[in-house]
Amino acid sequence: MPYCWPDDTVFTRLELSVEDRRCHTCGGLLTVCDHRHRRLFTLTGPVHVVCKLAHCPDRTCPTHTQTHSPEAEMALAMPWWVLGWDVVCWLGHRRFARHWSVGQIRAELADTYRIPVSDDAIERSIRRYQQMVAARQHDPSRLAAAYADVEAVMLSIDGLQPEKGHETLYVVRELTQKRVWCAEALVSSTTEEVQRLLTQAREWAERLEKPVRLWMSDKQAAFVRGIATTFPGVPHRYCANHFLRDVAKPVLAADSHAKVQMRRKVRGLRSIEREVGATQRLAVLAPEADETAPVDSLQAAAPSPNVALDYCAAVRGILNDDHGGPLHPPGLRMAEALGEVQASLQRNLAAQKGGLRTTSSRGERATLTGG
Ligand SMILES: [Zn+2]
Repeated sequence: MPYCWPDDTVFTRLELSVEDRRCHTCGGLLTVCDHRHRRLFTLTGPVHVVCKLAHCPDRTCPTHTQTHSPEAEMALAMPWWVLGWDVVCWLGHRRFARHWSVGQIRAELADTYRIPVSDDAIERSIRRYQQMVAARQHDPSRLAAAYADVEAVMLSIDGLQPEKGHETLYVVRELTQKRVWCAEALVSSTTEEVQRLLTQAREWAERLEKPVRLWMSDKQAAFVRGIATTFPGVPHRYCANHFLRDVAKPVLAADSHAKVQMRRKVRGLRSIEREVGATQRLAVLAPEADETAPVDSLQAAAPSPNVALDYCAAVRGILNDDHGGPLHPPGLRMAEALGEVQASLQRNLAAQKGGLRTTSSRGERATLTGG
C-alpha cells in the first residue's frame, strides 16, 4: 500500500537524470520521455525524487520502446520502498548490532528523525535488510576476496532449534573466517536432507578453490554419514563445546543434588519473616492486633527487624538463583554465597557481644540458628 504523506510534509526536491545518454543499440542520443515521482524518507528528511526517464527517440531503433531510469535512483532506494537505503541500513544496524526492539526503533525514528512508520513497516524493512546482508555474504567476488589469504577452510555444521516444536535450522559455518556459508530450516535431519546442505558447502569450497581441512559437529549420525560421503578423507572432529557439555553432565547432576541438600538444610525463612512482620505491625498497632506471634520473641526482636528481613531476602535470592553452567555450577555458587551470609551473621554476633553495636537483633540470630 502506498504511504499516505501528511499534507504539511516539507520535501527536498531532487532531480535525477540518466547518466549514460547514448543509445547502446544505434548510438543515438536518448531523450527524456517521462518523469517518475517518488517520495522517500531519508535520515536527513523527506525527499521528493523526480526521475527523468529517457528513451531512444529513433522509431526505427529496436530498443525505441525501452525506457531508461536514472542509475542514481537505486542508490537512494529500491523500487516501491518508502524508506531510503540510509534508513533501512540504520534500522538493520540498530536491530542486529545493537539488539534494539522494533518498538525502540519505531520510537527513535519518530523522535529523532521524524519518520513515523508502523511496526509492520519496520519489520518488513528488517526482513529486506536481512535479505540484502545474506545476498552480500553470498556474493562470489566478495567471498573470494575474504578467502584470498586463507590456505584451507574448516567447516562446522549444527542444528539450532529456535523454539520447541519448530523445524531446526541447520547452519554450515566456516571457522577460519567465522562466516555462515549456508543455513536451511529442515523438517527432518535425515541423511538426504542434510546431504543437500553438505553438497552446497562442497560447491562453495570448490568455487573458492580451497581444500577442506576439517569438519566439526556434534557427530549425529546424519552428519557422520553425510560428511563421509561428500567429503571423503576429510577428518571429522567432535565439537569441543558439545564434548565439554557431555563431560559436564555428571558434574551438573552432582551439583544439582548438592543444591537440593542445601535447600533442605536452609529452612524456616518464612517463619522468621512472619515473626518479624508481626513485630513491626505491633509496633504500629495495639499489641493485641496479632495473637499468633509469641510475645517474648517480639520484645527481643523489636530493635532492628528490617535487618532480619534483609537477610531473609538475601538468602531466598541465593536459594532461587539457578544460573551458571558446568564451568560455574549453580550449587557451588550457592554454597559460596551461603557461606558469605553465615560469615556476615557471625561478624554481627561477634560485634554485638563485644558491645560495638548498640542494637541487638534477635532476627539475625534466628536466621543463623534456623540455618
Ligand atoms: Zn537507438
